[in-house]
Order: sequence, then structure tokens, then C-alpha cells
Amino acid sequence: MHVGLISYTPDPEGVIAAAARISVSNVSALDLKEKQTPERVAGLLKYLLSAGHLSPFEHASFTFAIDGISRVTSHQLVRHRLASYTQQSQRYVSFKKLDFVTPNTIAAKPDWLAKYNEAVQNAHRLYCEMLDAGIPAEDARYILPNAAETRLVMTMNARELMNAAGLRLCLRAQWEIIQLFDYVKREVEKVAPLIAEQLQAKCYRLGYCDERESCGLFPTRQ
Ligand SMILES: Cc1cc2nc3c(=O)[nH]c(=O)nc-3n(C[C@H](O)[C@H](O)[C@H](O)COP(=O)(O)OP(=O)(O)OC[C@H]3O[C@@H](n4cnc5c(N)ncnc54)[C@H](O)[C@@H]3O)c2cc1C
Repeated sequence: MHVGLISYTPDPEGVIAAAARISVSNVSALDLKEKQTPERVAGLLKYLLSAGHLSPFEHASFTFAIDGISRVTSHQLVRHRLASYTQQSQRYVSFKKLDFVTPNTIAAKPDWLAKYNEAVQNAHRLYCEMLDAGIPAEDARYILPNAAETRLVMTMNARELMNAAGLRLCLRAQWEIIQLFDYVKREVEKVAPLIAEQLQAKCYRLGYCDERESCGLFPTRQ
């Protein structure tokens, strides 16, 4: 898996702070942004988060190139609706070579790993035979496994990043999407450390676990 930041709102934290201050100012956000200090920005972001005033966080967006995740994980990822996605097509791209993800629980057991690899290779062989027989890739792909790797570009604003990370960095989420959001967080850290700090499992914000059973990090509400 590889995650890289392609593009982002310049000075994302400054933009959020200036946008927030416009609601109580009588001057342009241009002036507000020019005059604000890093300390003021940090203080304001902290206040917005504690008060739950999250809409200014929608003004900062991040665009990621995500390569080498399984179709299992891309399906989970695109459930986050307040984002934009463009995914490699299995209709227009044919996969003469199939890259696929192997979960550690399977990789750790040689007998099961052999069966897993064989099943994936059999499916892929049939896929290639169908392509050779003139069956279009859009139909032959029905046989490809969920393990097949995919690539996509995702654009999310900071508010949705915090929401999605809150859900997907929870230890109850699946390992591959946890790993994906770990990489997303690392990329955001490089350009917006205050926002990156907020990319964490939701229990850190709540102070308790709202799942039925806690992983032990925080107690449940009961
Ligand atoms: C551990 C885990 C297990 C899961 N298991 C399953 C499962 O078994 N089956 C399954 O189907 N899904 C499952 N999901 C997916 C989950 O139900 C959500 O669809 C997904 O996490 C998207 O998050 P979200 O609801 O915050 O929506 P997002 O699309 O990320 O939207 C962000 C926020 O915007 C608001 N919003 C967005 N759209 C609407 C709308 N139409 N109406 C009102 N408010 C809206 C909500 O406040 C929402 O929280 C699972 C998720 C996790 C983290």
C-alpha cells in the first residue's frame, strides 16, 4: 500500500481560522488571514474543536493518491460519502498480471497461504482465458477476487477526514483500512500538523468507547 498527498489547500489551518473569524468580524477574510499569527490559529482551531464548530474545517481539502489497497478496502473507503473519488476501472484496464493483498493471518499459515494463492491464481487464470476468448474485461472481471489491488484518488476536506479517521482508526475497524488511515494521517502531518493531531480514533475525542465492547483503550459509557 502506498499513500501520497498529491495536492492540498495552501496553508490549510490558516484558511480554517480565517474562515471561522469572519463570522465575528466586519473585515474581509483576506485581511484576517494576513494578520493572524500561528499561535492565534492554533488557539482558534482548539476552540472550534472543543465547541464542536466544525464547518470551518470544510474549507481545507486534501487530495491523496492511494495505490495497492484491496478491493475490500476500497469498498469500505467509498462508504464515506462526503469525499470525491476516482478509481482505476476494471472495465477499461485489463489485468494480465494480478497484484493482490494477502492478510497476515493467512500469510502466517503456510498451508492456508498455499490454498489462498492457488485460488487467486486459478481465478486469475480463468480471467485471462476469458479475455483471450474475446469476453470483455468488464465481464471477465466478475471472477476477480476482493483481494485484487486497486488504485484511486481521493479528495476529502478536513472535517470529513476527522470523521472518517475517527471511525477507521478505531481498533474495531479492519487492519487494512486502519493502515490506510495511518498513512493518510502521516501525509497530513507534513502539511497540517494541528489537523493531523485530530486524525485519531473517535474515543480520544469522546473520552470513552461508544462501541459495544471496548478494546481497552477507553472504558465504555457504562
Ligand atoms: C468498524 C466499522 C464497521 C462497519 N460495518 C458495516 C457493515 O457491516 N455494514 C455496512 O453497511 N456498513 C458498515 N460500516 C460503514 C458505516 O456504516 C458507514 O457507512 C461508514 O463508516 C461511513 O461513515 P459515516 O456514516 O460517518 O458517513 P460519511 O459518508 O463519512 O458522512 C459523514 C457524516 O455526514 C453526515 N451524513 C452523510 N450522509 C448523510 C445522509 N445521507 N443523511 C444524513 N447525514 C449524513 C453524517 O453525520 C456522517 O457521519 C462500518 C464502518 C465501520 C467503521
